[in-house]
Amino acid sequence: MSEVAVVGGGIIGSLIAYRLVRAGLEVTLFEAGKEGQATRASAGMLAPDAEGLSGEVRAWAEEGLAEYPSLVAELREKSGVEVPLILGGVWPLEHPPAGWEALAHHRPQPGGYTDPVRLLEAAQKAFLRLGGRIERKEVTGLSEGWVETASRRLPARWVVIACGAWAGRFGLEIHPLKGEALRLAAPPPPGPVFVGEGYALPRNGQTYLGATQRETWRPGVEPEGLAWLERYRAEAFPPLRGAPILESYWGYRPAGRLTVGPVAPGVLAAVGHRRNGILLAPATARRVAEMVLDLWKTPR
Ligand SMILES: Cc1cc2nc3c(=O)[nH]c(=O)nc-3n(C[C@H](O)[C@H](O)[C@H](O)COP(=O)(O)OP(=O)(O)OC[C@H]3O[C@@H](n4cnc5c(N)ncnc54)[C@H](O)[C@@H]3O)c2cc1C
Repeated sequence: MSEVAVVGGGIIGSLIAYRLVRAGLEVTLFEAGKEGQATRASAGMLAPDAEGLSGEVRAWAEEGLAEYPSLVAELREKSGVEVPLILGGVWPLEHPPAGWEALAHHRPQPGGYTDPVRLLEAAQKAFLRLGGRIERKEVTGLSEGWVETASRRLPARWVVIACGAWAGRFGLEIHPLKGEALRLAAPPPPGPVFVGEGYALPRNGQTYLGATQRETWRPGVEPEGLAWLERYRAEAFPPLRGAPILESYWGYRPAGRLTVGPVAPGVLAAVGHRRNGILLAPATARRVAEMVLDLWKTPR
């Protein structure tokens, strides 16, 4: 029996699982390997001002931003994976920049960026090294004290639903907000730059350009999405005109009601992080881990 079963191995589920195993619990992470995971498509921006967050979510974003340097250092030590983290600022611009050197005349907002793929790898490696288990299986049903897959029914004292855009199947108010993005062979800006509806930022020495937003389960980078990205880069980012496409990304952002806490006896949820799951992940993981540890003290 697992003390905790975490359903979904994107950044939210993986960081929660890591925190719980670090706290000494026996944790199994279930990961279905769905196409369209948001975390792997993400830009990895840590930009609370530019994203216009307010209220409690804004406070979580600031908490997440403040925690990133120590989180990345801790994950490096536990996993051996180096996660890029640059907190040199975020540039929201009113007009397209003629070149990146023009940014020197603008004051950046607090924030920066990380690489979400490396972050995910570090969190899962650290989790495994501390004794966590990953089951590469889809969870098909949940009930108090149980997790079901196609082949088995496994006991778990607590279940955490963290399966992103797919959480609707467990009765949560979540739907997909698909995003598409490109990596271009072009010298990158010094950090995330926002112009109009999109942004550009560094990724692996080149430039990540994003991102579309459509409410759909259609898979892949669609012609409509590609056309938007091409039009957008021509209008908003003169330095990126004509740069060859190296890679494309797509994923389903988990949109709908942000739900972090108990949803049924023995079941908690951490879903609905929409456009800001990388930024919010440290604060969500901390909260869910504290809730589980508190519940742990209550006899069941
Ligand atoms: C193009 C794009 C750009 C983005 N840019 C940013 C950004 O710059 N900054 C930022 O903070 N956020 C950004 N986001 C948003 C961010 O990526 C998401 O909010 C975050 O990754 C959500 O993480 P998650 O773990 O909830 O979901 P996901 O990463 O989607 O992970 C969910 C996981 O659950 C698994 N799963 C599903 N169903 C089951 C099941 N039944 N059983 C077991 N496993 C299951 C899936 O296989 C998947 O791996 C962006 C998103 C996109 C698409």
